[in-house]
Amino acid sequence: KAKNNGGNKYEFYHTELTDKIVQRREMESELREAIRSGQLAVVYQPRLNMKLAKVTAVEALVRWNHPVRGLVMPDQFISLAEETGLIKEITDWVIERACFDMQSCFDQMKVSVNISALEFSDRGLTERITRILEKTGFASHRLEIEITENALVKNPDDALKTMRELHKLGINFHVDDFGTGYASFGYLSNFPFNGLKLDKSFILAMHESDNALKIVENLISLGKAYSLVITAEGVETLQQKEQLQKFNCDVLQGYLIGQPIQITQLTETYQEHVLA
Ligand code: C2E
Ligand code: MG
Ligand code: MG
Ligand code: MG
Repeated sequence: KAKNNGGNKYEFYHTELTDKIVQRREMESELREAIRSGQLAVVYQPRLNMKLAKVTAVEALVRWNHPVRGLVMPDQFISLAEETGLIKEITDWVIERACFDMQSCFDQMKVSVNISALEFSDRGLTERITRILEKTGFASHRLEIEITENALVKNPDDALKTMRELHKLGINFHVDDFGTGYASFGYLSNFPFNGLKLDKSFILAMHESDNALKIVENLISLGKAYSLVITAEGVETLQQKEQLQKFNCDVLQGYLIGQPIQITQLTETYQEHVLA
């Protein structure tokens, strides 16, 4: 009897595992097809410059319009893309789309793109980005790159080399989701960062305790002491905005400022801000 149960258990896990593998393979080939047939899209979320009281930059965020499953968010496919190597094509596509859109719709608006940790150990990244800038005619100082701390902890030597090359081209870097990883200000100062984005968990915690409030205030002033441009992510309430303004936060991003939107909508909403 025990043997039978064991057998069944094995069967069960075996089937479950096989299902997972099959599912992932399916999704991989669907993602491959998605890139080829234009199912990917980019939306842009405004970044509000507090000093100028103007939206002077946006963040490009990828979306997958799946023919059956509908809108698929990046958290559901970026890690698969990384594991399968498809991330390279996605990164190139997103950067080219973003550069093209900004170049054709705005005179000065900057755009940041998210680049996976993994990609920074690919020494071909600089060349790929250079080619996209040439192809689209987009000025390198209007392109910014967001990387999470973990990218730097995993492979610091390659990351630093690639970052230096890109920085030389005129591209600025921001630490994304700052505070969720393991990097300290001291460690980060080894890399050519222009700014850091405080993770939304800090902003969310602000109303919960005076302690959390103090932490945000101190992170902002410490970051500024390192000459970094400080962006707050996930700003959803007026209270948070006013608080961050008191703390001298440089840039605000979040649903209160604006949702991620398509380029046509972005142009309608912000064109005059840039020309003003
Ligand atoms: P992220 O770079 O930290 O982007 C910010 C995420 O927070 C976005 O989610 C955005 O829609 C969301 N968000 C913005 N404002 C608010 C707010 O006020 N409240 C809350 N709760 N959330 C807000 P999204 O678009 O789902 O992207 C998730 C993550 O996927 C991004 O986090 C980024 O790490 C990654 N990602 C997005 N696009 C790309 C891409 O083209 N390439 C790569 N490698 N990763 C990407
Ligand atoms: Mg980001
Ligand atoms: Mg972030
Ligand atoms: Mg994130």
